[in-house]
Amino acid sequence: MKGSKKCPNCNQWSEWNQDKTDRCEYCGALLAPEVVEREENREKRKKEQEDEWIFNIQPDDSPFKVFLKKIGKVGYVIFMAIVSFIVWLIAFLPG
Ligand SMILES: [Zn+2]
Repeated sequence: MKGSKKCPNCNQWSEWNQDKTDRCEYCGALLAPEVVEREENREKRKKEQEDEWIFNIQPDDSPFKVFLKKIGKVGYVIFMAIVSFIVWLIAFLPG
């Protein structure tokens, strides 16, 4: 599907294939910088959330802390497995 989009930089109408990486034919600016920005923000937020996960081992953790986090991680995985099993059980129980 082809279309055209007004360049946010020079206000000329450029051919646009709905692609976030398409650039203006006149000045070379990105035609959809807001889309690129939004995706970058989403990636960043995802990464931040992963970094904040309590069991993630940080470079400055002591060996004891690393040990605790590893146990916590295994415990978390087992806990999640039990929870999803219970959810599955409830979903399949008659009535
Ligand atoms: Zn332009």
